[in-house]
Amino acid sequence: MILALTRRFTAGLSIALPFFFALHAPAQPHFNGAKAYEYARDFAAIGPRWPTGPGHVKAEDFIRSHFKHDQLEEDTFVANTPIGAVTLHNFIVRFPGKKNGIIVLGTHYETNYPLRNVNFVGANDGAATTGLLMAIADQLRGKTLDGYSVWLVFFDGEEAFQSWSASDSTFGSRHLAAKWGGNGTLQRIKAFILTDMIGDKDLDIQHESRSTGWLIDLVTQAAKKYGYQHYFFQSEEPVDDDHLPFVQRGVPAIDLIDLDYGPNNSYHHTVKDTMDKVSAHSLTIDGDVIMETIRLINQR
Ligand SMILES: [Zn+2]
Repeated sequence: MILALTRRFTAGLSIALPFFFALHAPAQPHFNGAKAYEYARDFAAIGPRWPTGPGHVKAEDFIRSHFKHDQLEEDTFVANTPIGAVTLHNFIVRFPGKKNGIIVLGTHYETNYPLRNVNFVGANDGAATTGLLMAIADQLRGKTLDGYSVWLVFFDGEEAFQSWSASDSTFGSRHLAAKWGGNGTLQRIKAFILTDMIGDKDLDIQHESRSTGWLIDLVTQAAKKYGYQHYFFQSEEPVDDDHLPFVQRGVPAIDLIDLDYGPNNSYHHTVKDTMDKVSAHSLTIDGDVIMETIRLINQR
């Protein structure tokens, strides 16, 4: 993703948070962020996953193998990119619910083609949220959900092949949003929740400006339930990401993104984006809030 305009920073919250967390610890068990971290670590261990490269094939196989007993659909298509025609693969995993409608949770899983010659593994940028969605799947499988169906989408081709622009980015989400617009799926989507770069140890999730207001409100409400509100929406900024093709088609959508990664964002799209910058605690926060947000959407 890329930042569209200016950014603002927040600091100084992390010292007070352990105490805050302890005071507000809810009675119910927390989301298994440690498991999400394990999945992310194993996925990042594949190495760079740039489209057309060998790591990308391994990443596809990892996803296929992980969800082999679930309702997995592979959405393969050819994208016209600055390096030519490239075959890309989105993956969709469906967990059926009793209510008529769909909640989509998304992430991208590949790494940047322009970073193919360095050891960029995208631990936070791609792997962390892939692991997060895999751990969320652990909570969804084996039963018919009481609420809406939940579909997980692992997007390919989010990153630019050359340099970010409307036509050189978000290939997988633009393809799928168009396809689902054509076959009637989009009208059935109650909410689209995108996750990106929210494994960061120093978690501060921004309020992405084009995200749907009532979803911002529900996520805020969910965060408050756990005493997590200081991790959310302390600053607002527009970020171009995989939610936009859905926003543009009228789907209620939110981008949960922390585009403030390392000092002056210095870990973003660099070899410093490694698993030691990601924490199970941040993934627990994400999972708790997303599961509670799903519950609130079902009640809405
Ligand atoms: Zn990125």
